[in-house]
Amino acid sequence: MDHYAVFGNPIAQSKSPIIHQAFAKETNQQLSYSAILAAEQDFTDALEHFFSDPHAKGCNVTMPFKQQAAKWVDELSPAALIAGAVNTIIRQADGRFIGDTTDGVGLVTDLLAHGVDLNNSHILLLGAGGAARSVVGDLLQHHPKSLVICNRSVDKADTLAQIANDRRVKSTSYEQLNSDPQNNKFDLIINSTSTSLSGQLPAISESIIQHAHCVYDMVYQNEPTIFLQKAKQLGVQHTIDGLGMLIGQAAQSFYLWRGVKPKGVDLLTALRVEL
Ligand code: NDP
Repeated sequence: MDHYAVFGNPIAQSKSPIIHQAFAKETNQQLSYSAILAAEQDFTDALEHFFSDPHAKGCNVTMPFKQQAAKWVDELSPAALIAGAVNTIIRQADGRFIGDTTDGVGLVTDLLAHGVDLNNSHILLLGAGGAARSVVGDLLQHHPKSLVICNRSVDKADTLAQIANDRRVKSTSYEQLNSDPQNNKFDLIINSTSTSLSGQLPAISESIIQHAHCVYDMVYQNEPTIFLQKAKQLGVQHTIDGLGMLIGQAAQSFYLWRGVKPKGVDLLTALRVEL
């Protein structure tokens, strides 16, 4: 039987084992998937131990090991190159290891499933951390007209825009963004900051939020996040949290390993009940 796992620290909260076991059932695949707690300084040893078993065909990597994983693999996908981080490792038949990041596919799949049209759209991406870096390449592949990256530490937004190296991408600060709401109207606002986890709001002005057609928060909780609640109060019709993205990124990992893409139809409801 082929083995898969997710490495992280902490790891007990990870939904990946439930998700991948459900995918295996849905697609009639025989595999095992476990959660492995790695000590911060021993991550690569833990990876090598895992892959010393020839039945170990791939793994997921979560916080805080995504950057280390990018350095460990033999080759990076284009998306992982932009992200400088890896959430999926695939063992090739020739023994080499490819690192990929599937967050972007997960996000775009979820947006499209919710009927959000990215073609010719104006997108505002709040945040320039690991999650933002992982989704820029996939967003650009879906032909938006513009992608503005806004971050509290503006130098990180600038760096991400430079790495993206695409004339549609611009970086900005909250001050700059808020100072000109007339010229900063967006079809889609994606919150990739961790603010909702701590019950905070990013410093974006209400007038910019209220013009958006759709507001997406990568964080998911057992109730709408504070950012989505704010958007709703301001009259935004379409608000979506990141639970679908979580399932979408896992489905893409599964596809990279097994060559079959699960739908995960009932998973969204099952996972939401457990939040
Ligand atoms: P990072 O720690 O790499 O980045 C955090 C980002 O949040 C940075 O841009 C940081 O800005 C910003 N930030 C934090 N606090 C504030 C604040 N008070 N005001 C404004 N900006 C703030 O985290 P990740 O990018 O890896 O993850 C971000 C979020 O996305 C997490 O909450 C995570 O749960 C979620 N996520 C969801 C996924 C899903 O599948 N649904 C997948 C991946 C992530 P600065 O640079 O200035 O510090």
